[in-house]
Amino acid sequence: MAYNEKILKDDSIRIFLIGSGGPFNNEVRLASCIAVIAGGEFFLIDIGPGTSRIIDIMRLPIPHLSKILLTHFHSDHIGDLGEANMMSWANGRTKALEVYGPEGVEKVVNGFIMAYEHDTGYRVAHHGKDIMLPEAGTPISKTIEFSDPNERILCFGTNGLKVYAFQVDHSPAEPAVGYRIEYKGNAVVITGDTKKTDTLAEHCEGADILFSEAISYDLLNNMIEGLKRNNLTRPAKILKDIQDYHMDPVVAAKVAKEAGVKKLVYVHITPPLTNKATGELYLKGVSEIFDGVIILGRDRMKFKLKPKE
Ligand SMILES: [Zn+2]
Ligand SMILES: [Zn+2]
Repeated sequence: MAYNEKILKDDSIRIFLIGSGGPFNNEVRLASCIAVIAGGEFFLIDIGPGTSRIIDIMRLPIPHLSKILLTHFHSDHIGDLGEANMMSWANGRTKALEVYGPEGVEKVVNGFIMAYEHDTGYRVAHHGKDIMLPEAGTPISKTIEFSDPNERILCFGTNGLKVYAFQVDHSPAEPAVGYRIEYKGNAVVITGDTKKTDTLAEHCEGADILFSEAISYDLLNNMIEGLKRNNLTRPAKILKDIQDYHMDPVVAAKVAKEAGVKKLVYVHITPPLTNKATGELYLKGVSEIFDGVIILGRDRMKFKLKPKE
């Protein structure tokens, strides 16, 4: 069962949208996960529940997975961290996986290490230390620290690839970050979960592709009306609350316009859009604001940016 390793060797940025959905379980969209290959590095932005097996099914070169970058610690962004670590290790990864994230990432990583401690031991005992390298089995946490809330921090840079983190506002999930990836003249930005902040457009400036989160207030409000009619006040309150700390698709389009990005790909799509009509409602009004390419993200979409320099 060979993995596609030749994609590690060219000068493009390749992006695989593994999970384009938000936290609600549905049959069309998994939770957040974007896989990136550039400069010989293979890394993931977030690892929502159920996404790790799709990375494997797509034959992405998991023995070479080097890093996972978490935007924040809501469960729809971290649920498969243990699985991704175990799967890449069992398939031949030889270095410890590095897990980046804002303050608090160490606790999350240590929790997964503890939860998988028995299994890690079983596999070394069963297959031997030469096959299951013990030093590669336990992930390492890398905390991204900001001294100024508006700064952009370089998380890592290899072979001309630069990956930066910037702060966003997803309070009370804080700190939360987005990521900007630059390689050979191309830029890709992933907002993470956030409302529109004063600096978001600046961090997205000129991106070739912006993967922006957005939840549809209109569609959610329709659902809330239905829930209230049936006296389901608890889910109605939750669907109202979440509108505090996310962007509506129209707001995300404003960010794309202000930032002058070329292509806007919607992700973290909420509620799940299970048919064409709801997809159209989700995108209502966005093309009047942003005149670049607009794409409604779907799981397993692939993007490739050829080098400009
Ligand atoms: Zn989320
Ligand atoms: Zn969140």
